[in-house]
Amino acid sequence: MPASYDVVVIGAGTGGYVAAIRAARLGKTVAVVEKQKSLGGTCLIWGCIPTKALLEHAHALKVIQAATEWGVTIPPGAPTIDMRQVHARKDKVVYGLTRGIELLFKKNKIDWIKGTARLAGGGRVDVVDGQTQTIQASEIVIATGSTPRGVPGIEMDRARIVTSDEAIHLAEIPRSLVVLGSGAVGVEFASIYRRFGSEVTIVELLPRLVPLEDEAISAELEKSFRKQGITVLTGTRVTRAAATADRVTVEAETGDGKIESLAADILLVATGRAPVTTGLGAEELGIRMERGYIRVDSLYRTSAPNVSAIGDVISVDGTAHPQLAHVSSAEGILVAERLAGREVRPLNYDHVPSCTYCDPEIGSVGLTEAEARARGYDVRVGSFPFGVLGRAKMAGETEGFVKIVADARYDEILGVHMIGPRSTELVAEAVLALRLECTVEELIRTIHPHPTFSEAVAEAAHATHGAAIHL
Ligand SMILES: Cc1cc2nc3c(=O)[nH]c(=O)nc-3n(C[C@H](O)[C@H](O)[C@H](O)COP(=O)(O)OP(=O)(O)OC[C@H]3O[C@@H](n4cnc5c(N)ncnc54)[C@H](O)[C@@H]3O)c2cc1C
Repeated sequence: MPASYDVVVIGAGTGGYVAAIRAARLGKTVAVVEKQKSLGGTCLIWGCIPTKALLEHAHALKVIQAATEWGVTIPPGAPTIDMRQVHARKDKVVYGLTRGIELLFKKNKIDWIKGTARLAGGGRVDVVDGQTQTIQASEIVIATGSTPRGVPGIEMDRARIVTSDEAIHLAEIPRSLVVLGSGAVGVEFASIYRRFGSEVTIVELLPRLVPLEDEAISAELEKSFRKQGITVLTGTRVTRAAATADRVTVEAETGDGKIESLAADILLVATGRAPVTTGLGAEELGIRMERGYIRVDSLYRTSAPNVSAIGDVISVDGTAHPQLAHVSSAEGILVAERLAGREVRPLNYDHVPSCTYCDPEIGSVGLTEAEARARGYDVRVGSFPFGVLGRAKMAGETEGFVKIVADARYDEILGVHMIGPRSTELVAEAVLALRLECTVEELIRTIHPHPTFSEAVAEAAHATHGAAIHL
């Protein structure tokens, strides 16, 4: 008799491990199949956590580089960064968090079954780890996540032409780095390695950086990147890249048809992530797919009975789906609750916050100004620069602004977009505002503490009504 569980989750990323814990807390017997040596998936091992650990090192260096402004005397010579210590600290943070999930599994009596899972039909899952064992599930949750996507014609040798998986482990700071793609991953690595001292060029096919953000945010980031000495090539297509033992040459065609030739130590390809379904057996079971993603309905049911899917591997009702850790976790919680018989409602993807931890950092939620206009709203916007705030001046972090997009008719807040200090933290207030269908007036009447960066949010609300106090 195979071991039998109420719920078997395939994949222990932020989608899968959170779904497992929630299901166990709701009384289900749960097993998680994970093929990596540690739990936590992309977010903990190659993504959110290690990249942000590197960004904290970059920030530490930034503060030290400005030592004279703070009245701190540093012996002559430019401060440098020791990559061995950077990686040691990052790895310690990652290890602590992945071990933490193992302890949570023990505490919640969740079995971690090590190996690669394959759907075998009839609620059975084969797990291969040298040998094959079969487990039985009343419900299966697929949470197999995503992997870096390549670009046709560019052969990734993972040494000179790399993905984010290798870029977080570079033993030495490259003298020069070309980043292909200016989504969250691309601009974060551009920020990290520029601060560490690399010559950085970022190449984006679309006409602006972070193309999913509000246009004003893209413009502000480009201004800041240029000021930091990052070369920005937007509207530019990489046509060829070739690696030798010690160099990469990259050929790119600009919008006006000019061919640029770039040479660098490293080319980072950061052009998005593809779903992981190879060898899973989903197609063989007749599960409906969509461009390689597992298609689910708004409650994450696949086309096969008793098989759900969440996280980076899915497409919801055929629409593009944000590949973010907090989205996968929210979906994991919802699925676990549905499987436990709780009443659940579909998530509102308009209320998903997006955080990009480049320097200056970006936090946004809801509709951009262009999206709100395209949906036919009578749009009213207001923005407020961080540079005017006392708190920002004290911190020496005066770049950026908060911008609010609202509906003029009902005064409802439709979107909040910020770039500048603590934006990835400040955005949480905006998420709540959208969730509660808050009006601009209500945000104005909400007393914000002084002196804080959050005053920029309140002032942006005032500006949306045409009258910021400190402008
Ligand atoms: C560089 C980088 C930075 C990022 N930064 C952020 C950020 O700051 N904030 C944010 O919200 N998101 C960030 N992300 C995105 C985030 O990491 C993903 O959205 C999130 O990890 C998706 O979670 P998931 O559970 O769907 O899949 P994953 O985390 O990819 O987990 C899937 C797991 O399934 C396992 N698996 C796959 N197939 C099988 C199988 N057949 N059998 C057994 N196990 C299997 C894999 O080994 C993996 O552990 C970042 C991503 C990258 C690459």
